[in-house]
Amino acid sequence: MSNLFQGTLYHSGEKTRTPVSIQVESGCLRIYADTAIQTWAALDIQSARRLGEDLVILQNGAWYLEVQSPGFAPTIEQAWGNKRLFRKSFFDKAGIAGCLIVLLGILLPLLAVFLWLTPFLADRAAREVSPEVERQIGDAWYQSLTAASTIDSAKTQLVQQFYDSLHFGGPYDMRITVVREPVVNAYAVPGGHIVVFDSIIGLMDAPEQLAGLLAHEASHIQLRHSTRAIFRELGARLFLNLAFGNYGDLSGIIAQHGSQLGGLSYSRQLELEADRHGLDLLKKSRAPQQGMPGLFRKMQAAAPAGDSEIPNFWSTHPAISERIAEAEAQIAASGNIRDTVPDALRHIWSALK
Ligand SMILES: [Zn+2]
Repeated sequence: MSNLFQGTLYHSGEKTRTPVSIQVESGCLRIYADTAIQTWAALDIQSARRLGEDLVILQNGAWYLEVQSPGFAPTIEQAWGNKRLFRKSFFDKAGIAGCLIVLLGILLPLLAVFLWLTPFLADRAAREVSPEVERQIGDAWYQSLTAASTIDSAKTQLVQQFYDSLHFGGPYDMRITVVREPVVNAYAVPGGHIVVFDSIIGLMDAPEQLAGLLAHEASHIQLRHSTRAIFRELGARLFLNLAFGNYGDLSGIIAQHGSQLGGLSYSRQLELEADRHGLDLLKKSRAPQQGMPGLFRKMQAAAPAGDSEIPNFWSTHPAISERIAEAEAQIAASGNIRDTVPDALRHIWSALK
């Protein structure tokens, strides 16, 4: 094996680049340029990198010597008796595939933790944001939800008066909107918007049923069900914004996604919780509680024959019969026997019908 090699010598300070011949000798290298000779003792070499099989880069202070030849590294190792000069870096040993595997081994568990943690953190955040932030989020969402709807302003005004006369209290300033829709529906938006479709009012035949509906929807807001639902729905993106206190951006995200989200559906557990809380609100405001199961019965009767589930409204679970039974049991236990609504509510109701 010849011990004469061709290479390039760089100087990092002077930015020079010189073609050189290299003679490998025992314990040193002699580097020949056109006009000069350098001798590098083995001990002078501060780093020796072997990139792939052929390319070697040696560093001596500001000088770098690059040699592209498969025989160069073995020749030095043999001449200097130094097998450890070209200790391979982790990357050289593992290669790209190995590095990817290690990276995935770290990233995948992190990703799993993040995915698992996000709903948990979103839920925590939803419980801890201020009603003011909820209102900002809710307003943006409300705008995009109702953008395409026809608002019935006369009914909106009346149902708002009806709601205000119930005096449910709580930290939210509730704003009612009645929209003209053929679907039997109503939904609650974080921070205080309740949207009622006029078809559900058409189904009612007593004011306490409207009180029951409003108590249920107000409970979704007061218990932050709608805030938690939208936080979970938007998950990571929302959470990252909250983590950086970027509330302004939040409204933008919600406005962008609001129409896709539509009215959120809740779990069976949350629906039952809103029913229970709603009945408590009715009791506290001294309104009859019977309107809530009364409204459920109306909806049950309006459902297609043989179908005990109500399409479109309050999702498909829990079954309406379960909600009627739960509500009646709670009313019986609470001893609320008031069965007439106050005159003020009755007057608004007559105007509405
Ligand atoms: Zn509900």
